[in-house]
Amino acid sequence: SRLQEGLSKTRDNITKGFDNVFSGFSSIDEDFYEELEEILIMGDIGVNATSRIMDQLREEVKKQKINNPNDCRELLISIIRQQMKTDEHAYDFEDKKTVIFVIGVNGVGKTTSVGKLASIYKNRGKKVLIAAADTYRAAATEQLREWANRADVPLIAGKEGADPASVIYDAVGAYKARGCDILIVDTAGRLHNKKNLMEELAKMNRIIDKELSDICRENFIVLDGTTGQNAIIQAREFGEVADLTGIILTKLDGTAKGGIAVAIVSELNIPVKFIGVGEGIDDLQRFNSDEFVTALTE
Ligand code: GDP
Repeated sequence: SRLQEGLSKTRDNITKGFDNVFSGFSSIDEDFYEELEEILIMGDIGVNATSRIMDQLREEVKKQKINNPNDCRELLISIIRQQMKTDEHAYDFEDKKTVIFVIGVNGVGKTTSVGKLASIYKNRGKKVLIAAADTYRAAATEQLREWANRADVPLIAGKEGADPASVIYDAVGAYKARGCDILIVDTAGRLHNKKNLMEELAKMNRIIDKELSDICRENFIVLDGTTGQNAIIQAREFGEVADLTGIILTKLDGTAKGGIAVAIVSELNIPVKFIGVGEGIDDLQRFNSDEFVTALTE
């Protein structure tokens, strides 16, 4: 599959490491555990998630009285699977009227992901509208317009430098007039000015509260899967600005750092909702943790 192809670099590193450790050691000792830990950390699974996984592995090895390193492989993979399980109701919003704020720093794939998301919902028969609330960069709006055209979804934009709230105001008007289902808002990627961004988001949300009081609200953060642990830091910082409800993890095609998804789920407690596996409009997939762990480790 696209996912397996995309994660092949990550998987090669992890499975080669596993092969070495599981068949290279004749007994389960401290060296064995240390080598395994090293592989997980090198795979960008992160120090905290790795130690959680390793603690559980040690416990289960004891409990199940496992003596042969090779018998640990399935056990380890099943522990990673458990760590990756996310909320099974994560997709409830999809059949409700929803506004999705998409946030994240510039360059992570925010614009692209907004276009791909719009296309997914449009193809599901939803009436979708995009609001270009990143009014700081005219080029960003133009790029978004191209994506909106590709997805065949209308776009509401303001002039460069316009108040993002005024764009939302117009977008809400259009949303109501056209009887839309999903409003996707592309926001400015300014993490360096948290206070401004927070105020901006609050102002936009007040308009939604007033005009579309019953609508579901999602705040998706877009994270670049090739940036490894930096993605976690960004999510924490944006978490101070908005109540994050989901993650779009991009650029998982061709990265050796795909293990970051395990760290994200385990450390942030925010569900990964979608993953980007390419630059095309159809290259956004729903995240499925079992499929992901299989692509990563088997
Ligand atoms: P923004 O600045 O966050 O809005 O980022 P863009 O949407 O402009 O994307 C930045 C670059 O990343 C572009 O060249 C995109 O084609 C690319 N990109 C976005 N998502 C993916 C993905 O899932 N895989 C790959 N390979 N490239 C992506």
